[in-house]
Amino acid sequence: MKKPLNHQPQLRQDLTSGDWVLFSPKRGTRPDQFRSGEKIQRASKSKCIFETPEKAGGGGIIASYPDLKKWRIQIVPNKYPVVSDRSDKAKIYKHRSYSYIEGYGHHELIITKDHDANFTKLSIVDANMLFNAFRERYKHIAKDKNTAYISIFQNWGPKTGASIYHPHYQILSTPILPPAAERSLSNSRKFHRKSKKCVHCDQIEVAREDHRILHEDELSIAFAPYAPKEPFEFRVSPRAHSPYFEDSSEYEVHSVMKSLQAALGKLEKVSKNVNYNLYIHTSPVKHKKLYSFYHWHVQVIPREITPRLGVSGGFEFTTGIEINSVLPEDAVKILNSK
Ligand SMILES: [Zn+2]
Ligand SMILES: [Zn+2]
Repeated sequence: MKKPLNHQPQLRQDLTSGDWVLFSPKRGTRPDQFRSGEKIQRASKSKCIFETPEKAGGGGIIASYPDLKKWRIQIVPNKYPVVSDRSDKAKIYKHRSYSYIEGYGHHELIITKDHDANFTKLSIVDANMLFNAFRERYKHIAKDKNTAYISIFQNWGPKTGASIYHPHYQILSTPILPPAAERSLSNSRKFHRKSKKCVHCDQIEVAREDHRILHEDELSIAFAPYAPKEPFEFRVSPRAHSPYFEDSSEYEVHSVMKSLQAALGKLEKVSKNVNYNLYIHTSPVKHKKLYSFYHWHVQVIPREITPRLGVSGGFEFTTGIEINSVLPEDAVKILNSK
């Protein structure tokens, strides 16, 4: 039975992560209660190492868009990669009942030209070029036999782990399926087996019923999930079922990019200096045909727009349940009023 929205504490479960979230909303939450955040420290352009990416990276230039001379986007190897790029096959070692696998993979930085133009400030042409670059690198790295999964992400702001101001994105491949992707995939598979439909298509349908839509056009949709861990979290995905980021049509990817810009623009109006993590979840590279039930999407997790509740640290460690003080239905109302 569907109850009307109320502001009593409630536990909700996210169908893809499987995680429970405790919503402890404050009645009549108002937009001006949200932090505009500490100003993101602008690093001076003259000292910025990403003005000449080839000097900042781990050696050489992987690719330049549209070309080397007039580059708007440049891709370089990460100078401090968390995985190592090797051509031999990653081995699995056993130590009694424990095992480890060599951390082979690619770790690249995708740097956009303008020092002060984060994603929402990119022109349509540049933002499109960026997503095309993601896909080209994705397809290239997918050919490496050590690649099981490819993550594409951005950390924006000091609260997210970003150490350099100049806007940049990262692409990282791993020889294993990372746990977060694994859970999202296996819960999606479970739902698909039980209901004979895609959990993400279903979530879009329910988001529409519950008025959790932030932006929509013919091909893509931005919506707040049913049980987000962070206030104002949202997802953007193709509207039609689409398992593989790399195989989506150009129009579809372009549309997702535009919806992402629109939704992020609203978020930046609510919280001026918002810090966020942004990532793409898609099907794995290995045995990809087995994952046709999946539906790729971009996830945006804003960081600390609301002050942390006093109890949250201990409670979250003990129970594994996060506390969110803003219901997604309220978050969408606030975002859409901007
Ligand atoms: Zn710069
Ligand atoms: Zn779907």
